[in-house]
Amino acid sequence: MKALTLSAEWAPKPGYDLTDRERDLRRPRNANMTWKRPKLTLGDAPDPSLKPDQALLAVAAVGICGSDMHMYEAGEDGYMVYPGLVHTPNIIGHEYAGRIVEVGKDVKGLNVGDLVAVEEIQWCGECIACRKGFVNHCLDIEETGFTIPGAMAQYLPVRAKYCWKLDEIAERYGEEEALVMGAMVEPTGVSYQGLFNRLQNWRPGNNVVVFGAGPIGLAAEALVIAAGAGQVIMIDPSESRCRIAMNMGASAALSPIGIDLDEAIMQHTFGRGVDYVVECAGFADQTIEKLDRCLAVNASIIDIGMGEANPTLPIVAYKRMGVQYAGALGHAGGPFQHVIRMMAAGRIDMRKMVSARLPLDDALAAFKRLESREDAKIILQPNPNSEL
Ligand SMILES: [Zn+2]
Ligand SMILES: [Zn+2]
Repeated sequence: MKALTLSAEWAPKPGYDLTDRERDLRRPRNANMTWKRPKLTLGDAPDPSLKPDQALLAVAAVGICGSDMHMYEAGEDGYMVYPGLVHTPNIIGHEYAGRIVEVGKDVKGLNVGDLVAVEEIQWCGECIACRKGFVNHCLDIEETGFTIPGAMAQYLPVRAKYCWKLDEIAERYGEEEALVMGAMVEPTGVSYQGLFNRLQNWRPGNNVVVFGAGPIGLAAEALVIAAGAGQVIMIDPSESRCRIAMNMGASAALSPIGIDLDEAIMQHTFGRGVDYVVECAGFADQTIEKLDRCLAVNASIIDIGMGEANPTLPIVAYKRMGVQYAGALGHAGGPFQHVIRMMAAGRIDMRKMVSARLPLDDALAAFKRLESREDAKIILQPNPNSEL
């Protein structure tokens, strides 16, 4: 089958303290410290073989994520930018949907022909974190498209416990569109997890500031609008992304460059301040660290963006104003179901941020195009819809 494979050179940085397991599996917790000269290759990969508890998915749509870009890009020192768990060589791609074309004999609840979106986080269900209900923080985690083969390929074996059916979206929009929307359940689920599951204190009418109008930020925008937000202020240096944010219903979309964030946010909230701050840019030291006077009493800060900077947070202001901060990670443990329902009910339509749908053959050009960060989301289609 055709597949997009990430490879890199194993070159742990001096001083990086590798565990035996990381060294044996070549699966470091911080790829930025070990993998050098990352490279993507489009070519033939062996057809996957199916285990009895797996179903075979013909991949219909797979989004290119900021994390995919960060695995593909190297910093000035030649090391992979992405700071998380990565094994190479590996087929990447983790935001995807497709059709089940074969089921193993032990599979329950999935049938040939089903359309599904699949969780990227392969939580074990048995470790302490999973048993406590925090499956996104599984201690024995595998990640599709990071540590195990992903979906930028024609076929992928999946387990039923990670699959969520898309039939209710197909009912409204037809199968072809449901599969494209299905590929956006994962990134939208990441935003959902941060907004509604971490602090569980969302109130309709909240004034919201979202940093970053990439896919996660735009998904957060769509979700808070659907959930009855007051003012929704998007902040991103890219003009084209600000335009997409406005088209999706933001009250304002601002470049952060050269402005006083506190002042701008006060102005756009009619002097009332912001109730929900959502960090989706990955630069907490330039975003939430700067907010102080614009925080409303009982404001919440949801930190989703993955970055290396450790911000110095104004905790005196947080205490004075009763502000709570929550880190958020992942999309598993329920958000998929609710995101699918919101899509099926027409409350959110993430296709508004898709700027191109391309065959897998164009994958390398698509990665190149995304280097400028002008597009929000490009969807690759490894199998033509007519063949699904
Ligand atoms: Zn992603
Ligand atoms: Zn676990």
